[in-house]
Amino acid sequence: MAYDVIIIGAGSIGIPAALYLAEQNQKVLVIEGEHGPGQQNNKKAIGGVRATHSDFGKISVCLRSIEIFRTWQEARGDDIGWMSNGYSYPAYRPEDAQALQDLMKIQHSFGLNIRWLSPEEYNEIVPGINMDGLLGSTYSPEDGSCSPLLITSALYFHALKAGAEFRFNEEVTGFSQAGDKITEVITNKGRYSCNQVINAAGNHAREIGAMLNLDIPVYPDNHEAGITEPVAPFFGPMVIDMRKEPGSANFYFYQNNEGQVVFCITPDPPILGIDNRSTSEFCRFAANAC
Ligand SMILES: Cc1cc2nc3c(=O)[nH]c(=O)nc-3n(C[C@H](O)[C@H](O)[C@H](O)COP(=O)(O)OP(=O)(O)OC[C@H]3O[C@@H](n4cnc5c(N)ncnc54)[C@H](O)[C@@H]3O)c2cc1C
Repeated sequence: MAYDVIIIGAGSIGIPAALYLAEQNQKVLVIEGEHGPGQQNNKKAIGGVRATHSDFGKISVCLRSIEIFRTWQEARGDDIGWMSNGYSYPAYRPEDAQALQDLMKIQHSFGLNIRWLSPEEYNEIVPGINMDGLLGSTYSPEDGSCSPLLITSALYFHALKAGAEFRFNEEVTGFSQAGDKITEVITNKGRYSCNQVINAAGNHAREIGAMLNLDIPVYPDNHEAGITEPVAPFFGPMVIDMRKEPGSANFYFYQNNEGQVVFCITPDPPILGIDNRSTSEFCRFAANAC
């Protein structure tokens, strides 16, 4: 029995792909090495969902994603922890303020709802922000956040309902080909015929490509994140502090729908590879930031 589509990986990309393909009456099989859905990068994400990008492709795809997440509960019934809490990029250096305001012109032309707030206006939505040297901030009120765990679980159960099949604890190890077409996906447990394959293997996408002599430029690097106990809501948007510190390219944080403050850095130089054990050293960068 041939599948229309085999998806490698039941993560952030593979599960929604399975749902929407199954709903288009495609016969879908998802093959996943872990014991369940969303067990790798998906569950490490902090839940920010933004269309605040700089190019048309990303902005338009992400505006559509936001529309799906924002209306998910109404359309499908599941609480995914969605909040339209917005994204913000405060500027403390004149060159950052200028770059952000120049970028806003491009973002407006692509349909993004983004505006510039004065330091006083920003302090109203992020009370306690460091006002020392603050020049203002961008604010995109329609960006938001949701729980990566809840959305993935919802997507997974809807995909099952739509007829997608999942095989867990099973790893893709190779392919059979006829010319340049994949005819079978081979795993450590069996072989499955198919018409098309989606490589949604995340950190391992390059290894999957190599099985077909393709060099797919996916080079994972690590971010570091921490999370607090829940407290009463006290600020709105995701705050992205673009200032570099030795060891950190930027710092960002927000308060999720359960009241927990989640904070992250982008290590600089990057921590390359897939060993993503926590270092805890990053906490001192968080303490220095805005
Ligand atoms: C600390 C941190 C914070 C983040 N915050 C955000 C955020 O706020 N917003 C945001 O949008 N993104 C965020 N991300 C990024 C986000 O988590 C990833 O971009 C996303 O999860 C990648 O999805 P994926 O489907 O490509 O990979 P994954 O979710 O990792 O899925 C890939 C799946 O493929 C499976 N697989 C791999 N190889 C094989 C094989 N050979 N056979 C079978 N199965 C295989 C894996 O087991 C895995 O389950 C964050 C990431 C981190 C680490």
